[in-house]
Amino acid sequence: MKPAPFTYHRPAGLDEALDVLAQVGADGKVLAGGQSLLPLLSMRLASPAHLVDINRVPGLDVVEVTPDVVRVGALVRHSDLLHHSGARTAQPMLGRALEHVAHATIRNRGTTVGSICHADPAAEMPAVTVLLGGTLVARSIQGERRIPAEELFAGPLESTLRPDELAVAMEWPVVVPGELSAVVEVSRRHGDYAVCGVAARLLLEPDGAVRSARAAYVSMGLTPPVLDLGESVAGQRVQDVDWAVVGAAAADQLDPEGDIHASADYRRHLAGVLTRRAFEEAR
Ligand SMILES: Cc1cc2nc3c(=O)[nH]c(=O)nc-3n(C[C@H](O)[C@H](O)[C@H](O)COP(=O)(O)OP(=O)(O)OC[C@H]3O[C@@H](n4cnc5c(N)ncnc54)[C@H](O)[C@@H]3O)c2cc1C
Repeated sequence: MKPAPFTYHRPAGLDEALDVLAQVGADGKVLAGGQSLLPLLSMRLASPAHLVDINRVPGLDVVEVTPDVVRVGALVRHSDLLHHSGARTAQPMLGRALEHVAHATIRNRGTTVGSICHADPAAEMPAVTVLLGGTLVARSIQGERRIPAEELFAGPLESTLRPDELAVAMEWPVVVPGELSAVVEVSRRHGDYAVCGVAARLLLEPDGAVRSARAAYVSMGLTPPVLDLGESVAGQRVQDVDWAVVGAAAADQLDPEGDIHASADYRRHLAGVLTRRAFEEAR
């Protein structure tokens, strides 16, 4: 199938891109890697009158690692971030999650910021972003707005970005002492969207006792659910925790929907098993 007709804009700079977005408003869509948007257009599940292709906007393809954050520009491809050793060291959960995102050809073109703007609850990076407490940096002709992750996802494929806003970068906090993480999932083939995925983040005290245990889930809700699972295990030595009990508690708290890939019960079962595995791997 072919997309409905649209007007194609290819701004050469950020100000021009923001001007076009302000003019076209809700009739426009930003085009980044196109790996999610183009299938939607081709299937006519979306038919914006204007596409604003940001691929020629300079300065958006930069990964910066500061003492506080990993900052990733809107044109950084998944594969660039996956292979960026500085970013992987500064916040290892990013690389661990990106290993599960799609297939190499899609990662070569798709952008990590685009994946977050797309707000698909079956995608890994939105879940990781909420778990880490990331911040999306948006620009419009009115200036800059910083959107905390917990305010970013409104529903499936729905973010709180305004139509006139361009996400210019995503920031995630760097790893802190005592922080351990893992990302595990079940998908029909490696690189497919997960039937269920779990990102786990453990914070340990200097003596090895658990300070906090939180997990975010992929394909388990309309937006990525995050569970605080530390209450029953805080203060225990990390080697002594029975993570199967923690997994069972997580499964009880989740309320996934069934679809053609899996029933709700099977997803809940997977969430329990994968929560245990994720924390054991993090440990
Ligand atoms: C076969 C296949 C398998 C896949 N498997 C997975 C998977 O397992 N896990 C996973 O996470 N993803 C998967 N993806 C999606 C992939 O990760 C996409 O790259 C990503 O979801 C979107 O990034 P993009 O740059 O291609 O965005 P686009 O397709 O260009 O845009 C997606 C949406 O975000 C908006 N947008 C993009 N950038 C911006 C911006 N800077 N500011 C404002 N709005 C913006 C667009 O307007 C559009 O609404 C898969 C895709 C395919 C085709």
